[in-house]
Amino acid sequence: MKNIAVMGAGVTGLYSSLELLKRGYKVVLIEAKSKVGGMARSVIDEDFTFDVGSHVIHTNDPKYKRFISDLLGDDLLEKNITAKTYFDGKFHNFPPIMRDIFHFRKKKALRIFFALLKGRVNQFRRKKPSFEEQLMFLAGRDLYETYFEGYTAKFWGISPKNLSSEWVPKRVIPRFTGRSALANEWQAYPKHGGIEAIPQKMAKNIEEKGGIIHLNAKLKSVQEKDNKVTIIAIETNGGEQKIACDGVIFTIPLPLIFEIFGKKFDLKYRSMIFVFLKLKGTEILPDTTICFFPSSKLPFTRLYEMAKYSPLTCPEGYTSLGVEIPCFYQDKSWNKKDDDTAEEVVNYLENEKIIKRENLKGYIVQKERYSYPIPTIEYYQKIEKLRASLKISNLHLAGRMGYFKYLDMCDAMESGERAVNSLISSHEK
Ligand SMILES: Cc1cc2nc3c(=O)[nH]c(=O)nc-3n(C[C@H](O)[C@H](O)[C@H](O)COP(=O)(O)OP(=O)(O)OC[C@H]3O[C@@H](n4cnc5c(N)ncnc54)[C@H](O)[C@@H]3O)c2cc1C
Repeated sequence: MKNIAVMGAGVTGLYSSLELLKRGYKVVLIEAKSKVGGMARSVIDEDFTFDVGSHVIHTNDPKYKRFISDLLGDDLLEKNITAKTYFDGKFHNFPPIMRDIFHFRKKKALRIFFALLKGRVNQFRRKKPSFEEQLMFLAGRDLYETYFEGYTAKFWGISPKNLSSEWVPKRVIPRFTGRSALANEWQAYPKHGGIEAIPQKMAKNIEEKGGIIHLNAKLKSVQEKDNKVTIIAIETNGGEQKIACDGVIFTIPLPLIFEIFGKKFDLKYRSMIFVFLKLKGTEILPDTTICFFPSSKLPFTRLYEMAKYSPLTCPEGYTSLGVEIPCFYQDKSWNKKDDDTAEEVVNYLENEKIIKRENLKGYIVQKERYSYPIPTIEYYQKIEKLRASLKISNLHLAGRMGYFKYLDMCDAMESGERAVNSLISSHEK
């Protein structure tokens, strides 16, 4: 029986491990943190459950729908996540509905209307290279400037002129239906335990099927022979351990993989700071689960209200907010003290009359260095070259961090499955 080492116990590593076990392989899953889940993790404090970033499962693929339904069983909640956007001191529909256009001055409303008609035709034309050009091509300048320009620049930390148009998924194009971007997909969330209930249940299944999970285990080095990884050395609380393997699936951030192989990696990830606020009272975000904040004067890009995912995430009489602040690793925001970050967020939210300080029961701050691979215009060519430069025949890359692609959880599972398929077909050769 072949031994496979899977690096990283996020959704991708967990799904790959389950697939390998199903197909008769032996699996050792290695995770640096003290628990599984990676980005799809939750923080439980007192009676509050917070997800590290707004998370909901969404898919139209019956395979992943069945997988999640079987995994969660009675603990599954079917959801319909709704969104708004906040500017000029008010909450607005997002995506906008036709009526919203006519709130603009008559001349502007007409301009938007004709730009959208043109956009309908342009969607069949050749894609423009940058996010800015493509979005203006589809929605016109007025809508681009109102809804997308500020948000995108703040979110990615680079000008939308330098961002690839790959980041213009269908979901950001105003559809004037008022329905959320995910409305056409099946959406699900666990009743208990936050989004992390999904990776936790996957980990339990792996161990029941004989897979081994090492937590608090960091990849130290690899030994290679004939362009193949033969041994993985990990550092655990008990010291260094060597694991012999016939193949590896890496789902950890690419810069770490390149470092292990002594190579340079020059593409960037966006980092995130998450502030969780425990609040007395009921609904904070009016009729919406999440809300986007395009203004450059506010440091955050999105708020989400956990009770809207599952009412069991807050104790009776309380609600809570998650606040997402994009930044770069080690920049001014990243290096700010947690108390100062939380204080700043509370001040902004109070100034905007979204929360009242007297209702604040407490807060938690978390940081995630590798959150979003940044798709600059030239990234696609670069990443292909970088991946090809690794030249290790039994090493397979997968996942959002390991593949350097904006993947959601079901896409991450699919990428894990793809890595397993390519590993198996290379063994059969
Ligand atoms: C703010 C935010 C909101 C999101 N919202 C949604 C959503 O609503 N719906 C959705 O489907 N998806 C959402 N996602 C995406 C989702 O979180 C990811 O697609 C998914 O979690 C990626 O899993 P992964 O296993 O590929 O990567 P990760 O979760 O990053 O897993 C990699 C693992 O490798 C471990 N690791 C790192 N270094 C080492 C090392 N040296 N040795 C061993 N282990 C190591 C890490 O600790 C981590 O556990 C969101 C993401 C973010 C950031």
